[in-house]
Amino acid sequence: MNRVEVKKDNICLNRIEEKCINCGMCLKTCQSINGFEKDCINCGQCILTCPSGALTPKYDYREVLNYIADTDYTVVVFSAPAVRVAIGDAFGFKPGEFLEGKMVSALKNIGFDYVFDTTFGADLTIMEEANELITRVRKHNMPMFTSCCPSWVLYTHKYYPELISKLSTCKSPIAMQAAMIKSYFAEMYEIPKEKIISVSLTPCISKKYERSLYPDTDFVITTSELILMIQELGIDFKNLEEKEFDKLLGKGSGGGLIFGVSGGVMESILRTAYYMVNKEKAPQEFYELTAIRGAKDIKEATVDLKEFTLKIAAVSKVSTVRDNYTKLLNYDFIEVMACPGGCIGGGGQPLVAIKDLGEIREKRIESMYAADNNMEIKESYLNPEIQDAYDSYINKNTIKLHTNHDE
Ligand code: SF4
Ligand code: SF4
Repeated sequence: MNRVEVKKDNICLNRIEEKCINCGMCLKTCQSINGFEKDCINCGQCILTCPSGALTPKYDYREVLNYIADTDYTVVVFSAPAVRVAIGDAFGFKPGEFLEGKMVSALKNIGFDYVFDTTFGADLTIMEEANELITRVRKHNMPMFTSCCPSWVLYTHKYYPELISKLSTCKSPIAMQAAMIKSYFAEMYEIPKEKIISVSLTPCISKKYERSLYPDTDFVITTSELILMIQELGIDFKNLEEKEFDKLLGKGSGGGLIFGVSGGVMESILRTAYYMVNKEKAPQEFYELTAIRGAKDIKEATVDLKEFTLKIAAVSKVSTVRDNYTKLLNYDFIEVMACPGGCIGGGGQPLVAIKDLGEIREKRIESMYAADNNMEIKESYLNPEIQDAYDSYINKNTIKLHTNHDE
């Protein structure tokens, strides 16, 4: 066998047999990124390097278009951070160009009733996970691994079940945001939740698998599917006027935005954890944790939160965990993303020239940090929509934002 196996029941990935030229590139990619493992973990990296377009995400966008056309339903889309720095690849923009306004405009043109930002869900995850981190440190229950990457969570279940109890219990930003759409948003706008279709737009094919665990998300579509929607509907993306996200679950902080890059999840959580411990804004170094930024596979640092110091590591690729397993267990807090560079390099991103992938990832990373730098609010705890959500809803209702990863 010189190709990755794509099982018929794979809900994330598809192979068009007529297009396959049997070149073996997909297997090489999987071996170099994930190691010599037997089972697919849905990262989709093979899609990005298949030279003939034989591998694609499992497409769900046509069903989404059917719901948009059905006036009986309110169709809500929420976009992950990394889509806006990659979508331009398909429309002649420079790699990494930050196209949030045009992306929102395209989604409104397609006909979505509400367009939200998953950076809101990321801010919610940051609040919950910062709190969990502090609790675990105080109870000496370390290390803690992040849990927002479903391919990483799946990998722990397949190969390192002893790490499951070390995963953060937080659901991912997408799962949290979908839960809020089907409860908070539904109640605020007085829409029966059975009439709401929630659509997560992501750079990630693995989220299609995660959706099967947390069905508050009705559909997951990738950046590459959004491009197909725009092209099939004849929308002139390049000349769209910029629009803003809708309110309520609309906007996240800079911390929520950098969730899309390796090291960003950890940096944002530490900004908020510092505040939660000390009741004061974190020092400037928490706003440019350069030691854990960039596209390297493993990045390490020690951070001082006054009450305690933490040894931290941000890791890309599950093979990096395998190769550094014993060492990583000596850290306090470890972020793991299956894709090189984090979600900006996800398998649902547009297909680009294979030889340029590394450079394109770097441009996307730069673009995300530049956007964080320009944002007025860089901390999740200062996001007014997050404050409102806790005050008016989360603190008064039972909403399941956590999981024990047994589902
Ligand atoms: S990379 Fe694409 S063309 Fe090559 S073997 Fe894999 S599926 Fe076939
Ligand atoms: S790193 Fe991001 S894009 Fe890649 S599998 Fe994990 S969540 Fe999906």
